[in-house]
Amino acid sequence: MERKPFIYDLDFPALALQLEQWGEPPYRAAQIWHGLYRNLWNRPEEFTNLPHSLRQRLAEAFSFSHLTPIQELSSKDRQTVKTLFSLPDDKGIEAVLMRYERRRTLCISTQVGCAMGCVFCATGQMGFLRNLSSGEIVEQVLYYARQLARVGEKVTNVVVMGMGEPFHNYDQTLAAIERLNHPEGFHLGARRFTISTVGVVPAIRRFTQEKRQINLAISLHAADDETRSALLPINRKYPLSVLLEACRDYVAQTKRRISFEWALIRDKNDTPEQAYRLAHLLQPFRKPEATLCHVNVIPLNPTPGFSGKATTMERARQFCAILEQNGIPCTIRLRRGIDIQAGCGQLAYPAPETMRR
Ligand code: SAH
Ligand code: SF4
Repeated sequence: MERKPFIYDLDFPALALQLEQWGEPPYRAAQIWHGLYRNLWNRPEEFTNLPHSLRQRLAEAFSFSHLTPIQELSSKDRQTVKTLFSLPDDKGIEAVLMRYERRRTLCISTQVGCAMGCVFCATGQMGFLRNLSSGEIVEQVLYYARQLARVGEKVTNVVVMGMGEPFHNYDQTLAAIERLNHPEGFHLGARRFTISTVGVVPAIRRFTQEKRQINLAISLHAADDETRSALLPINRKYPLSVLLEACRDYVAQTKRRISFEWALIRDKNDTPEQAYRLAHLLQPFRKPEATLCHVNVIPLNPTPGFSGKATTMERARQFCAILEQNGIPCTIRLRRGIDIQAGCGQLAYPAPETMRR
């Protein structure tokens, strides 16, 4: 079946060109852009600022939604919401809203599944199905923006840490962020976005050249190649020395801080030995002006396909203390939404809880 183009796949110039081809005056593009990204309208009939004929034309020419929410789960403390969306091809993705005191942070997906095969990740365990389009990435954010707008709130941060490897779908991911960053539209500042990558080195290098304000996080998880390759197969292609060199170049060229993510697995990567090795690896990020790295540790979240256990809080504190003593800032991240499988690495489709039924 042929599908209509998806309106959120268009950037502003593409929308303007379409309207020009229809013989519309130039200001129509801005009107529609405002409707989509400021007023958060997602049905042609909501565009009451447009002539009826143009609304009809838009409805005939474009699809206004690819994501259908089919399940919404709220954590017991009600601070975390996870939504399962189906896509037009009957595949699906999950996205998460996390309420903090002041922030409203979204965790969004960039692929259906993931090809990277990290052993402790539910998304990796399902394999790779397909890339999301930029519009499908954008729509996740607009969906929650509408929910929040109903209670007078706004999306404050977006972390690209849901399903998929964003640097394995580089162009669509960056296009989505650009669209959400557009000053005439949604206008969420580039610094409010964080992209997390497993370490696709050529993409890190490309990202470095773009000199954007978007934050970068690297999923490190181990301080020696043997341990890292056993957890993250991509390490065989881009071992630690190659990855960290790309990270050092990023920091040198952008002067921006880089975050390193570390899921603490009991007796695997939560040992003092790993902490000392990591502290050693990260010494080059200590500059006279500032330390341009930060380590985020999180006790491993359980997933159906991995038998490793989470570390203890005591071990996590000890791990961070060793880093701090060696001049490397470290934060223990609170686990969020574990009761609804909304934590890091727990997103999948069908959701693992459904598969087990
Ligand atoms: N593909 C990207 C972003 C999505 S994964 C990446 O790997 O960075 C988001 C984060 O969750 C990554 O840091 C990933 O390593 C981590 N993660 C995966 N499975 C996890 C688990 N079971 N427990 C804790 N963190 C996990
Ligand atoms: Fe993919 Fe990230 Fe999961 Fe690894 S941790 S399988 S890269 S989503």
